[in-house]
Amino acid sequence: MADVIPFDQRSGSLWYDGKMVPWTDAKTHVLTHGLHYGSSVFEGERIYGGTIYKLKEHTARLFKSAEVLGMTIPFTQDQISAACIEAAQAQNIKDGYIRPVVFRGSEMMAVSAQNTKIHVAIACWPWPSYFSPAEKLKGIRLEISKWRRPAAETEPVHAKAAGLYMICTLSKHAAEAEGWHDALMLDYRGQLAEATGANLFLVKDGVIHTPTPDCFLNGITRQTVMALAAKRGIKVVERAMFPEELATAEEIFITGSAAEVTAVGQIADHHYTVGPITRQLRDDYEALVRQPAKSQAA
Ligand code: PMP
Repeated sequence: MADVIPFDQRSGSLWYDGKMVPWTDAKTHVLTHGLHYGSSVFEGERIYGGTIYKLKEHTARLFKSAEVLGMTIPFTQDQISAACIEAAQAQNIKDGYIRPVVFRGSEMMAVSAQNTKIHVAIACWPWPSYFSPAEKLKGIRLEISKWRRPAAETEPVHAKAAGLYMICTLSKHAAEAEGWHDALMLDYRGQLAEATGANLFLVKDGVIHTPTPDCFLNGITRQTVMALAAKRGIKVVERAMFPEELATAEEIFITGSAAEVTAVGQIADHHYTVGPITRQLRDDYEALVRQPAKSQAA
C-alpha cells in the first residue's frame, strides 16, 4: 500500500463545520466523543461526471442516522447537500467519492454526552472502483464471517453509524487475511444478511431474491437496482433467506454506493458465474448513474 497517500496528508481542502479548510488542518482532538464511544454517523456517495448520484437521498439518510443517535445536525439538509457539492468542486473531482461524517465533539468525555457539539465534515477524493476491475470481471470471492448482524433491539441497525462497522472491519480483515476479497455476514438468526459494505442479491430460475433489510441498511443502491430489475421485467422477491440457498443460486451480486453492482464468483465452497442478470443490472446501473440528475430516477 506504499502508493496510497495517507488520508490526513492529502492536499486541497475539505468542508468542516460550515467552511472550507485546508485538508491537512481538518483536525480534531484525541478526546473526541465520537472516537471513544462511536457517536458518529456517515455517508458514502459517488460523484459521476460531476454529479453526485442521489445526493438528496444520501443527505436525508445522514440526517436520519444522526437523529437515531440523538444528534441534531446544526445545518439544514440543503446546506449539507450544497457543502457536498462544494467539497467535490474544491478538489476538482468529477468522478470520485464523497464522505460526509457527523460526530460528537470533546466537550464531554463519558457515556453521557448531552452537551457535546455536533461536528460535520465532508471530504471528497478519487475512488475509481471498490474492488479491482479484474476482481469484478471474474466475480469477487466471499468467505462467511463468524460475526453476525445484530438485531434491531441490539443496535440502531438502520442508521449508517460508525459503531456498526466494528464487526464489518473485523469480518473483512479476517477474510482478507485468508485471501478472500470480502465477507458475507449472516444475521443474529443465522439468515443471510449482507456483505461488509454492500447488500446481497441471489438469482435463481430468472428471479432475483434479496434478504429483507430488517437488521441492516436498506441501501440506496439496493433500492435503485430493485427498481432497475422491475423495469426489465425481472421479478424481485424480498424475503428471509437462508445459507442453504447459496448452494442452488445461479448468480450472486452485491450492491452499494462504493461497490456499485459487483458480481460474486464464490462464497465459501460455492461457485457462481457472472450471469446475464448480473451483467444486465450492472450495465443498467452504470448507464443510470451517468445520466443527467433530473432523469436519474430508476
Ligand atoms: N450495507 C452496508 C453495511 C454498507 O456500508 C453499505 C454502503 N453504504 C450498504 C449496505 C449499501 O448502501 P448504499 O447502497 O446506500 O450505499
